[in-house]
Amino acid sequence: MGSGQVTSTSEPFDFQGRHVVVAGLGVSGVPAAKVLHARGAVVTVVNDGDDARAREQAAVLEALGITVRLGDGATLPEGTELIVTTPGWKPDKPLFLAAQRAGVPVWGDVELAWRLRGPDAAPWLAVTGTNGKTTTVRMLASILTAAGLRTAAVGNIGVSLLDVVLGEEQYDVLAVELSSYQLHWSPSLRAHSATVLNLAPDHLDWHGSMEAYARDKGRIFEGNQVACVYNVEDKATEDLVREADVEEGCRAVGFTLGTPAPSQLGVVEGILVDRAFVENRQKNAQELAEVTDVRPPAPHNIANALAAAALARAFGVPASAVRDGLRAFRPDAHRIEHVADLDGVGYVDDSKATNTHAAEASLAAYESIVWIAGGLAKGATFDELVARSAKRLRAVVLIGADRGLIRDALVRHAPEVPVVDLDRTDTGAMLQAVTEAKRLAVAGDTVLLAPACASMDMFTNYNQRGDAFAAAVRELGA
Ligand code: ADP
Repeated sequence: MGSGQVTSTSEPFDFQGRHVVVAGLGVSGVPAAKVLHARGAVVTVVNDGDDARAREQAAVLEALGITVRLGDGATLPEGTELIVTTPGWKPDKPLFLAAQRAGVPVWGDVELAWRLRGPDAAPWLAVTGTNGKTTTVRMLASILTAAGLRTAAVGNIGVSLLDVVLGEEQYDVLAVELSSYQLHWSPSLRAHSATVLNLAPDHLDWHGSMEAYARDKGRIFEGNQVACVYNVEDKATEDLVREADVEEGCRAVGFTLGTPAPSQLGVVEGILVDRAFVENRQKNAQELAEVTDVRPPAPHNIANALAAAALARAFGVPASAVRDGLRAFRPDAHRIEHVADLDGVGYVDDSKATNTHAAEASLAAYESIVWIAGGLAKGATFDELVARSAKRLRAVVLIGADRGLIRDALVRHAPEVPVVDLDRTDTGAMLQAVTEAKRLAVAGDTVLLAPACASMDMFTNYNQRGDAFAAAVRELGA
């Protein structure tokens, strides 16, 4: 881990008279265009689409004096000094290649918010990772609140950083969730402390390769002031800390489900302990909370709690606030959500397990499982997931467009496990899936919806998929 100067790029930026292109209308583009215009920039919005919705948005912006070019998001307008992009736009778009050739910087919505912060703005405690971001950020906000700090969980969690930075509300510190896309477009972001929870292949079509994805995640550590928090059980996250250029005195702090070494947080006999933010860490450890204070107390969720605790402790929060904050935390819907017990069988909705890494964590939390899986695979392979989870599977019910990929992996790695392959992708398939699962489960088992796939082949989103599961369970229990 090298230490370098905080670069002058995080200085306040004067937009007056600058020619700024906003790439993409929509949730982040429209507010970005408005604020840039209000700060005196000469704004042009470019957008690929030219539909009724885009025209409506364009009319609003044009009335303010902003130029909007619909139906052409590819050409770089003459004289552009800066592009502010919707984070989802892929880096290999012609607009960005042209910007690169012309030496024009590209910022995302997070970078824009970062540059617009006032001089006394709250520091950021930042969280990224393939899975567990939202849970960790919300645990962190709960801990900071328990410590009496004015805070909020913001960013990729659905609360726009631009709104937060420009809003009236005063904060002491922010718990910020950042996606790999947002990090890609955030060249000067400097967090107080940050964590990469874990790293598994995801969104590779966007980033181009695993290396590029990891590199973008690793940006979260750049310029950290107090702590870079990594996962001891996921070496790739530690490598990212080592490669980061941080401020003098910033520490590498690990979290582990095992006994912590000095400069780590971990678990000893059911207790979450801190051996990083204590006096004399060679000899001392500070008790933070009990494993049972974490809901649900599944291994991956304990890891999330430890990461949240590490960031809070880096900010100087007392141990008692970690315990109180974790006790007060309630998980979001569709994340290992216990729906009901029927005839001694637990029904659990982890519809948010939309990739294999998340599903594997979820399957590791139960001993004997009837697993409901399938949907859109997004290019994933299932051999590792199935091989590692095979011994826990009582049976499997498959749904969705790419279920054949999971079925093939089951044939290869778990040939004894009974499989029901539902050859349908309509919304009503969920009731049939849960009916089959109920038939296959015996007392003590868990029926677990952890699809390892996206939901859009059958549902609007993972929320609707989880709701369909819960409705089916209720129907069968009634
Ligand atoms: P994200 O915001 O990164 O998508 P969430 O907190 O919403 O993460 O959790 C998404 C899913 O990922 C959960 O439903 C759970 O299955 C899984 N998950 C949560 N935390 C972890 C973790 N630390 N490691 C692996 N999987 C996890």
